[in-house]
Amino acid sequence: MSTLSGKTAVVTGASRGIGRAIAEKLAANGANVVLVATRQEVIAGVAAEVAAKYGVKAKGLACDVSNFDAVQDLLKTSIAEFGQIDILVNNAGITKDSLLMRMKEADWDSVIDINLKSVFNGAKAVARHMIKNKSGRIINMSSINGIVAQPGQANYAASKAGVIGITKSLAKELAAKKITVNAVAPGFIQTDMTDDLSEAQKDAVKAQIPAGVLGEVDDIANAVLFLASPGAKYITGQVLSVDGGMNA
Ligand code: NAP
Repeated sequence: MSTLSGKTAVVTGASRGIGRAIAEKLAANGANVVLVATRQEVIAGVAAEVAAKYGVKAKGLACDVSNFDAVQDLLKTSIAEFGQIDILVNNAGITKDSLLMRMKEADWDSVIDINLKSVFNGAKAVARHMIKNKSGRIINMSSINGIVAQPGQANYAASKAGVIGITKSLAKELAAKKITVNAVAPGFIQTDMTDDLSEAQKDAVKAQIPAGVLGEVDDIANAVLFLASPGAKYITGQVLSVDGGMNA
């Protein structure tokens, strides 16, 4: 029997990049998965591929994770269809980088809402259900940039530092109900997000990574699988850096 047989996981931002790798990793280990992203057609297609490849039940649902009511509905629908939600991975995120003098209010608001408010939205939507089940895993995607900030990322750094704050607070609130809440803090991982960097920026980034290379999406998916697995039941309120040594 696979590690996560009989479990259901919801993974946000699962259309591509890190989120897709997480959804695939959990499915490969037996979990049924609800994949969430912004476009219904795209995410339904990814879910169909995951179901076919791993032989699990997979459903793709479009939802803007920054919208409180939409996230409550999303989780209600998922619980109704899958019977239970055991694992919530709040992974969806964006960047809108610019120096403070050029950063628009809308760039601040959208990054905070999609990266940070989404974690509140998701946790609110599953907490009652997980408390009732006396079991649950909530895994939130932070970033090295929420620990060691970079210029030009006031919005992103604040959102990812905020993810660590909410993770620790919820971990203490929910520990007695056997729900763990942890964060993963990736360093620089090869995805669409880092593809936006120029070659010069990528070289500057690599110079800061003790391992000397960018990470792969599977490096993050493996960390999430560990935190979701039975063996991690006594680990809560932690931030697992997966960054080739940047935060050492
Ligand atoms: P990515 O390739 O840009 O993918 C972002 C995902 O988030 C997509 O599935 C996107 O869906 C989804 N998304 C964006 N806005 C959304 C919204 N409002 N509602 C629902 N879904 C939304 O990003 P990534 O590199 O895989 O990053 C995933 C997470 O890891 C993010 O939280 C990011 O901050 C964090 N992270 C990444 C790195 C890195 O080096 N890549 C480093 C540290 C932390 P659509 O396809 O529908 O747009």
